[in-house]
Amino acid sequence: MATDSDKDLQFRDPDTAEELTERLEELMDDIGEPVDVMHVCGSHEQAIAKFGLRSLLPDGLSVRMGPGCPVCVTNMPEVDEAVALAEDGKVVATYGDMFRVPGTARSLEDAKADGADVRVVYSASEAADIAAENPGEEVVFFATGFETTAAPTAAVLSDDPPENFSVLSAHKYVPPAMEVVAEMPDTNIDGFLAAGHAATITGYGLFEEFVADYDIPVVVGGFEPLDVLLGLERLLEYVRDGEAGLENAYPRAVSEEGNVQARDTMWDVFETESGEWRGIAEIPAANLALREEYAASDARERFDIDPDVGGEDPLTEQCICGDIMAGKADPDGCDLFGEECTPQNPVGACMVSSEGTCKIWYEYGGQPDL
Ligand code: SF4
Ligand code: SF4
Repeated sequence: MATDSDKDLQFRDPDTAEELTERLEELMDDIGEPVDVMHVCGSHEQAIAKFGLRSLLPDGLSVRMGPGCPVCVTNMPEVDEAVALAEDGKVVATYGDMFRVPGTARSLEDAKADGADVRVVYSASEAADIAAENPGEEVVFFATGFETTAAPTAAVLSDDPPENFSVLSAHKYVPPAMEVVAEMPDTNIDGFLAAGHAATITGYGLFEEFVADYDIPVVVGGFEPLDVLLGLERLLEYVRDGEAGLENAYPRAVSEEGNVQARDTMWDVFETESGEWRGIAEIPAANLALREEYAASDARERFDIDPDVGGEDPLTEQCICGDIMAGKADPDGCDLFGEECTPQNPVGACMVSSEGTCKIWYEYGGQPDL
């Protein structure tokens, strides 16, 4: 009987990888000019770095990193709000990666070191369980991530959570960020490799409008090496044909309509609003805020959050996470990379999360193409 790991290995087959890379060479020959493709997912960068895929790519094909890590794009003032709540005596529960992300002055880890009650959880429902077990405490879930985690947060909120449970939403919505990147004059992206995980919720059909509006091909890709190479092959075919098409190269997980129930629940609970993505831009309709009906569970409504953040960290001003996530720079273009900024002592958010580009490059040798 085939196991999950057998299936994974099937998507790492070296012979097929060689065939696909030869095909990429042929396509680049046909195109005859450099091509810049952007992925919008930390897991794509992990696969590319871990399996050394950049070293297999033909000359002229550049795979840029986009705003694909939800931890990295969480804005500093959002971290500051979570820290302020923790320092004010609330129990703050959040995902592990958020624990160490620097706010303007402090991280949740710093707050915990000073005695605040900060818990690392794996899910929104685990945070709600903490509230149920501690009725005398206010438990705030600092909720981060894209559609993939926003949908489960919504499910918890719509299922009669404990009264002492609330959500500080820093959830973000991917498609508007792709629009902003597509509009940046100095980014020049020829095609997007869209995030397979997020598309399991929203469905690949969601990108139809983007493809039509921006005249750029989008291929939804999975996270095994062959998934990535296959996604690139499809994108190059579109580029060669001068066509802005949409394709699902991850059909084993993604459907056209996505998970309709999860998506409906997400939109019942959240609405989009304009918000700053760390280091990138203020993006219209790219933050997910709780709807009015859920105001009682909204930490921003329930508490008077006033972060006392102190001054700017001078090192943070040198951090170029924003340029990295907009596909304009690589981590080793940052003066702090691997010196002042390491996973043990992160200066910027890109060095904290396992999906952060700087951390991925650092862990795989500081080079993109091992
Ligand atoms: S949440 Fe999942 S799909 Fe979305 S960017 Fe991160 S790894 Fe990719
Ligand atoms: S190396 Fe550190 S400081 Fe530089 S861009 Fe990356 S996270 Fe920011």
